[in-house]
Amino acid sequence: MRIGIVSDVHANFVALRTVLEQMGSIDALWCLGDLVGYGPQPNECVSTISRYPSLVIAGNHDWGMLGRLDESDFNRDARSVLDWTRETLTHQNMEYIKALPVSVRALESAFTVVHASPRDPMWEYLLDLFDAAECFPLFKSRYCLVGHTHVPLVFRDAGGVVKAAVPEPGESIRLNVSPYDNEDSGGSRMIINPGSVGQPRDGDPRASYMILEIPDGAATEAKGATLTYHRLEYPVEEAQVIMKSLDFPPRLISRIELGL
Ligand code: ZN
Repeated sequence: MRIGIVSDVHANFVALRTVLEQMGSIDALWCLGDLVGYGPQPNECVSTISRYPSLVIAGNHDWGMLGRLDESDFNRDARSVLDWTRETLTHQNMEYIKALPVSVRALESAFTVVHASPRDPMWEYLLDLFDAAECFPLFKSRYCLVGHTHVPLVFRDAGGVVKAAVPEPGESIRLNVSPYDNEDSGGSRMIINPGSVGQPRDGDPRASYMILEIPDGAATEAKGATLTYHRLEYPVEEAQVIMKSLDFPPRLISRIELGL
């Protein structure tokens, strides 16, 4: 089984399209929230994601667009695009966003999937060891997938010692997703952030995503599962041309070129 994992697409369809082309054949697409906001093609992104067998959760921009979060919590540029998105989304795509859950368990009990953190699924920026250490006891699964910071990062909890590492493009992380395994059998628990497809913020403008591969066969063989981290160049200028034609805020247009 091959699963594409994307987060923070932010209506950047040029980036999403490029990532999906590169992924090729996948059995499912997992999307960790913030499908909309910041970017100029929300309908294209939502329609495309909804066509996959997918696991999709809501992020703060999705909820901000729906009016479920206080608009004053967003900066002016973000607010203006949320307002534009609300007027631009088709009824069908709006209903799709409305129905997204906030937190999901996946692959038996191997994964918890939330947008920001298990403690605060909408707003917490999980970037340091102290916050990560406080979050590990707050989810029961072995692994937790998060987005929101737009920064790829892996936190490991090995027997109470929490470490963080920035993955290298092409790096594979070995996972144990066997349903016959449990939390007491040793090995690390992890909080994993695949980075952002549509608006990376680690100084690298390339789209960021991960692929989860689980060997076919008996469930016990699922111990050979791997999660591989990827960065992919996409035609940023093509997205910028669309943003300019829609009079998007200049800062949002330039930041996708800088990866900030
Ligand atoms: Zn986001």
